[in-house]
Amino acid sequence: MMTVSAKCPYCINTKSIISDRTGWLTHLSNHREDIIKHLTDTTFSCVFCTYPEPSANQKHMSSHYRWSHKKSIIINWAFENMEHQLVV
Ligand SMILES: [Zn+2]
Ligand SMILES: [Zn+2]
Repeated sequence: MMTVSAKCPYCINTKSIISDRTGWLTHLSNHREDIIKHLTDTTFSCVFCTYPEPSANQKHMSSHYRWSHKKSIIINWAFENMEHQLVV
């Protein structure tokens, strides 16, 4: 099983957490709103749409991420994009 060591980018002042992928996805699912905020702050168009429309404003962007895509897609994105190390 894959074990991943990382500092959660959405927790303040955390030590590294070592967990398997499932544990990480469970942890990150508590941060859904933080992840949506992060996406809203750092992207100009949706990173999940194949042909994204540029967002009119941040409010539009965050509600698009919140309502147009499954929670699991958002959580997976956060997992794949955080700095992490695989622990063998
Ligand atoms: Zn966290
Ligand atoms: Zn989208």
